[in-house]
Amino acid sequence: MDNIDVTPRFDLDLTQPEPMPQQSIDRATELMRTGRLFRYGETAPGELNDAALLEQRFAEMLGRKFAVGVNSCGAALFLALRSSGVRPGDKVLVNGYTLAPVPGAIEHAGAVPVLVEVTDNCTIDLQDLVGKALASGARTLLLSHMRGHISDMDEVSGICAKYGITLIEDCAHTLGASWDGKPTGTFGTAACFSLQTFKHINSGEGGIIVTDDEELAARAILHSGSYMLYGQHAARPPESSFEKLRGQIPNYSLRLSALAAALALPQLDLLPERAGRMTASYRCVEQLLRSIDGVHVIERAAKEQFIGSSLQFCLPGLSGEQIADFVGICHGHGLGLKWFGGPRMEGFTSRPSQWEYVAGAGTLPQTEKLLATLCDMRIPPAMEEKHCRQAAQIITYALRQATSTGDHALSVPTNRP
Ligand SMILES: *Cc1c(COP(=O)(O)O)cnc(C)c1O
Repeated sequence: MDNIDVTPRFDLDLTQPEPMPQQSIDRATELMRTGRLFRYGETAPGELNDAALLEQRFAEMLGRKFAVGVNSCGAALFLALRSSGVRPGDKVLVNGYTLAPVPGAIEHAGAVPVLVEVTDNCTIDLQDLVGKALASGARTLLLSHMRGHISDMDEVSGICAKYGITLIEDCAHTLGASWDGKPTGTFGTAACFSLQTFKHINSGEGGIIVTDDEELAARAILHSGSYMLYGQHAARPPESSFEKLRGQIPNYSLRLSALAAALALPQLDLLPERAGRMTASYRCVEQLLRSIDGVHVIERAAKEQFIGSSLQFCLPGLSGEQIADFVGICHGHGLGLKWFGGPRMEGFTSRPSQWEYVAGAGTLPQTEKLLATLCDMRIPPAMEEKHCRQAAQIITYALRQATSTGDHALSVPTNRP
């Protein structure tokens, strides 16, 4: 071995989204010609706006009664909390491995995040969940299926039922995924999806709440900014649910635009094929990484039917400096990995101890230990087998370089027994 770099350059931009399908372009163009980009553009009687059509599709797809479109998943989480009855000062349980807008949504609702540990497989720690539920008296769990990692939903549902906890699911990364055959987004009282560019359906920005709860749905529609035009929604509760709330619900103006919905709608039909490609690449990279000493891939439960839109792995035994080097070398080869353990919040990655506005943010040792070495690779649908091989080669090379103490000492740490 020597240290001459014969490693390939990664020739795919991991941040490159899929182009809009022609149907999305056509629909959006048609809509632009009409100028009716506002979802309450006073459509002709019986005619449904694209936002209403998208809500209808979501409700049908998930087998839920109601769906409400808003302008982001973060807004959806906030509205779902608010509309489920969370009041300022209430405590809300949330897993510590999640994206910054999730504790942000709790704070937005005036509530107090109670952070729960995650285990080595990036899912919620059930024991800590019960302990924190009892200690805090929280009556709501906002469960984030972060980066598509799905917790044991049989256990979570059981715990919520036993302790009278309302479950709200954050499905930003699990549109199309299931636990033991049951889609995510069908376990909780409400669930929230994202239409942001880096999720499974891309309309730039957008979020959808689904629920079977009439009052929650009516509140969410009114809060979202429907004025008194809620009749223009299709997947909505009956008139009487709105009448009861007349005058009581502030309008927060968080609507989904008709244009975003027009872009999203045709993509729903493409989801299974896109998901299949991403998950195949995930499995390919995962298998290659398993044979690299020092790399620990995150295990998935057999019941988890996830969508492999990103892949996480740990580098146990490496120092922060070594991981920073490792990530830098990967970037140098065109492979844009992210790392959750950096000294500062950067880009999309942050960890609980960095959310300083949350009381007790620094008290999740197990989660912090995991995130300290957790790396993250986006898997776009355009990724092919050759890219998977390139990624594994670059990771192998970067790991060697980052852990070599002298020019010729190319030892890598091993986590093999
Ligand atoms: C992206 C994301 C969100 C927020 O979605 P936006 O639509 O960008 O507000 C929430 N939770 C998770 C896990 C996410 O990945």
